[in-house]
Amino acid sequence: MSNSTPPRFPPDYHTHNLLCRHADGQPLDYARQAPLAGCPAVAATDHCPTDDGFGTGHRMALDQFPAYLAAVEEARAAGPVTVLLGVEADYYPGCERFLAPWLEQHPFDLVLGSVHFLDYWAANPVERSLSDGGDPRWIWEQYFARIGALADTGLYDIVAHLDLPKKFGNPIDPALLRELALPALDRIARAGMAIEINTSGLVQPPRACYPSPDLLRWARERGIGLTFGSDAHAPQRVGADFDHALALARAAGFTHHRVFARRAARDLPLPA
Ligand code: ZN
Ligand code: FE
Ligand code: FE
Ligand code: ZN
Repeated sequence: MSNSTPPRFPPDYHTHNLLCRHADGQPLDYARQAPLAGCPAVAATDHCPTDDGFGTGHRMALDQFPAYLAAVEEARAAGPVTVLLGVEADYYPGCERFLAPWLEQHPFDLVLGSVHFLDYWAANPVERSLSDGGDPRWIWEQYFARIGALADTGLYDIVAHLDLPKKFGNPIDPALLRELALPALDRIARAGMAIEINTSGLVQPPRACYPSPDLLRWARERGIGLTFGSDAHAPQRVGADFDHALALARAAGFTHHRVFARRAARDLPLPA
């Protein structure tokens, strides 16, 4: 492509597409944007299908998964950059029954793990979703307990948007954040996982990347790997604000970023 620039950013390992019904474009559209954005690779990580009714309103149906595989193949064949096959899979109690064997059956390069809901099945809507509000301390406690449980499953490669509760307010003072987050970060480190710098928070209410500089530093101190993700729900968001994300990574002491192929990880130096 004549107007492409040499890669100056890490790969974008968090993108969606139209199959989830709240994003625009095909994986190929995201792949075409990557070189324009300065990214050498892009991972398709659309919301993972479930077989138990969890979150069916905002993800592909299980029988649409072959169409997802075909769309990623199309992007690989025609796209100007490396295209990885991934999913963003929710962690919730009981998800292992479906997820563990299903992830094994497909040739994924990477799997993002997310906690979007605290108690999805609860009858009490106050205890149901991160967006429904409630006592901030309770929300953060429950949230980080689930992030720790997510890590313990060993099913995921990267924790997505590590401090997502801030999207919905939930103010927390740094000492309490530390108290609640460190045990979860220890479990992420023990699992050999990475976290991502997710730039979507810059255009959402937090007006800041996920996670915060404190969390990034604590992750760095534990040897946790790092990836970069736009969480793009539109192709033009691929690689968005990665200059800002790189500066955050360096300020937290990171010198490397993690790359994946068929779920094998390697750490490469951050771009100069
Ligand atoms: Zn989404
Ligand atoms: Fe997410
Ligand atoms: Fe996402
Ligand atoms: Zn996300």
